[in-house]
Amino acid sequence: MKKIVIAGGGAAGIAAAVEAAKNGADTTLIEMDGGVGGDLFSGMPLLGAFTAKGVQISHGVLDEILDACRKIHPAGVIGPVCDYRTVVGLCIDPEILRLAVYRLLKQYNVKLLLNTMIVSANVGRGILKNITARSKNSEYELPLDAAVDATGGGYLTSMCGGKVFFGSENKMFQPLSLVFRMCNVDYQKLLLHIRNHPEDVLLCENSALPGDRQEAAELLYRHGLPYAAVSAESSLLAPAMNAKRIHQCTAAFITPTAPERGEVCLNVTRNSGIDCADDSAVSGALPVLAEQVIDTAEFFRQEMPGFAQASVSHIFHKCGVRESGRIDGEETLLQDDVVAAAKCSDAVASGCHHVDIHGCGKNQIRIPVRDGLAYDIPRGALCPKGLKNVFAAGRCISSDRGANGSARVMGTCISTGQAAARLAAEI
Ligand SMILES: Cc1cc2nc3c(=O)[nH]c(=O)nc-3n(C[C@H](O)[C@H](O)[C@H](O)COP(=O)(O)OP(=O)(O)OC[C@H]3O[C@@H](n4cnc5c(N)ncnc54)[C@H](O)[C@@H]3O)c2cc1C
Repeated sequence: MKKIVIAGGGAAGIAAAVEAAKNGADTTLIEMDGGVGGDLFSGMPLLGAFTAKGVQISHGVLDEILDACRKIHPAGVIGPVCDYRTVVGLCIDPEILRLAVYRLLKQYNVKLLLNTMIVSANVGRGILKNITARSKNSEYELPLDAAVDATGGGYLTSMCGGKVFFGSENKMFQPLSLVFRMCNVDYQKLLLHIRNHPEDVLLCENSALPGDRQEAAELLYRHGLPYAAVSAESSLLAPAMNAKRIHQCTAAFITPTAPERGEVCLNVTRNSGIDCADDSAVSGALPVLAEQVIDTAEFFRQEMPGFAQASVSHIFHKCGVRESGRIDGEETLLQDDVVAAAKCSDAVASGCHHVDIHGCGKNQIRIPVRDGLAYDIPRGALCPKGLKNVFAAGRCISSDRGANGSARVMGTCISTGQAAARLAAEI
């Protein structure tokens, strides 16, 4: 039986582990955190799984995850929801998603090594032979036939001697954020405000979606789900930012997570100028972001329509890192290919999210994929140069910075995780 090691248990690593095990491999998933999931269980919508036109482009593991969610709680999958701005996000109750993922990993006999960090790799002639991993109590030497680098930053590839690029050419990174959720939100009140004040939210940025702001706000209202980005320039946020009641950001990105709890996920905090390759800098950002959560939640209760009775129901346990290392692969996914919805003959996965690069303060670059279509991800983007049995998945695939701004989203990470595991199983 082939032994496949999956390094990292975020969205990409989970998909890779399920797919490797489904392909008959003896699969070990190693994660240095105390549980798997990464951002997947934060409550943010899965982007890159449905195009802006609502066509599902990720199948296989994602479908199994959705089925497992529905079996646990039918209302757990809210489904694809359009923000009438740029995207269609797949909204799922994150706690149901967490349970479903653990059930799937058990069902496929994936061996879990949690609280365990891969610390070194033994490579000969381009072949990774075994890895060393350490936990508080043990050290493991794991021989393997193939591995998937789903570490979010190409850390396994780097240990194997592969090249990894961090951030922009002048070492700038997208800001860090601490995502949180609030429950007892009155969805209707918020949506009514949006319908009456379409100028307060970001809308109509994608030519594949309706182009009239009033119509977009009306559609959002009729769907009854608050998937909306309240703009920094709005009458709601601008005065608070100017008065320094809350920090500066592009928008308050609001996503429904559980209608039965009146719960939403809030992606609104940000700490810019942090070197994401420096763990001490990332660690130092967490208390700063926690203060932003306190101020923002209080401000929302006082000023945001629908939030008067709301309370914080969950705060993600670590800084959200949008950008870290990208491997140097046999092929590189380019921003131009993403925007042009380019196809290729050796595609192993596809993506559809816009080029999405957050900057400091209110800045953000958002460039939609042409006509709401999908682009191909070539096999070589998953293959670190010089390594024969290691495949990259998720945020760290070979991509230029712009393309990474698209391929980093969770739906696409699930697709590349699945594809990397298939390549590993074929070895
Ligand atoms: C604030 C924020 C908002 C976002 N919004 C959205 C959104 O709305 N929708 C969306 O789809 N995407 C969003 N994204 C992007 C998305 O969440 C991430 O890019 C994606 O989850 C990355 O998944 P991954 O599996 O590649 O990496 P990760 O989730 O980072 O997983 C990598 C895992 O590897 C582990 N690891 C690393 N090194 C080792 C080692 N040596 N040994 C063992 N384990 C190791 C880490 O602990 C980690 O759990 C957002 C990201 C952020 C930060």
